[in-house]
Amino acid sequence: MGVDLGGTNVRAGVLTQAGELLAPPVQNPSRAQEGFEVTLEQILLTLEQAIEGSGVSRDAIGAIGMAVPGHIDSAQGVVRWAPNFGYTRADGVFEAWRDIPLAAAVESRLNISVVMGNDANLAALGEYYYGSGRGTARGLVMITLGTGIGGGVVLTREQIQGNADWKGGVLLVGFSGGAGELGHVIIAFNGPRCGCGAQGCVEAFARRDAIVELARELMRRHPNSLLHQLAHGDPANITPALVSEAYAQGDPLAAHIWEQIGAYLGVAIANYIHIFNPEVVAIGGQIAKAGKPLFEAIHRTVRAYAIPTLLEGCRIVPAERIEDAGILGGGALAWQKVAP
Ligand SMILES: [Zn+2]
Repeated sequence: MGVDLGGTNVRAGVLTQAGELLAPPVQNPSRAQEGFEVTLEQILLTLEQAIEGSGVSRDAIGAIGMAVPGHIDSAQGVVRWAPNFGYTRADGVFEAWRDIPLAAAVESRLNISVVMGNDANLAALGEYYYGSGRGTARGLVMITLGTGIGGGVVLTREQIQGNADWKGGVLLVGFSGGAGELGHVIIAFNGPRCGCGAQGCVEAFARRDAIVELARELMRRHPNSLLHQLAHGDPANITPALVSEAYAQGDPLAAHIWEQIGAYLGVAIANYIHIFNPEVVAIGGQIAKAGKPLFEAIHRTVRAYAIPTLLEGCRIVPAERIEDAGILGGGALAWQKVAP
């Protein structure tokens, strides 16, 4: 089973080793800010409903893989820190999850073994096995473009020198589970402040709100643009989807916005290529739906910044499994546990 635990909803589905969901995913509110016990019950409810809806018996479930946004210690099954989850104390201070033994809590209630990982990391693992990686790519780096920029790195035996006993792809998690923070690769010295506290991270330039901010500023400077017209002159109406609509209608200003965002992402991707030399770079998340203008700018920039021999044969593509990425990633991790 794969579980996608989000700040709004918890979703779950039963899937085959080929990544096919047996039934549409089941979804319930995660009630993320009402304390751990409440959220735990929501997770359990969703799992029970998903098992029931799948038509398979509970004994047939080999393992549960959970994708959780935050710093996850997979080896211990502990959520080290998850800023979207927690509760508000009596004095009004929000206390986020710290060191929550989530895997053991679910395991003890369902009697099915539970593995978990960071949601963006697992999205990369799911995309490796069930999307553009096809389970065979020699390395895959994935970024997920949305409110923030998440990332994950899947390495293979072919990318390691020396003795490595790996079959298929394995996720880079680092010594404490925090690796793969690809959104916080720094692309500008002294750049804008990022939510993580650093400066000049690619996330600070290309997260959803940064795209909206850039579009608003350009719209103000170009009152005759189609974007200005589509937004009825009101900056509050600007969304990434509206920029895409203006682009589709031939607005050069919209083209310029995606060109700029693609350039930021391209510089970051050149860095990933230099470090990991992956066969596939997959780009997911809702913002990736901007499509052609964004990807053309990314390709152009990567060609200008990456070492040509490392770029040879490397495919930079839209993720094929943008929807249900967390469930598929959790499922891929669960399958690794039961069928390594
Ligand atoms: Zn950052």
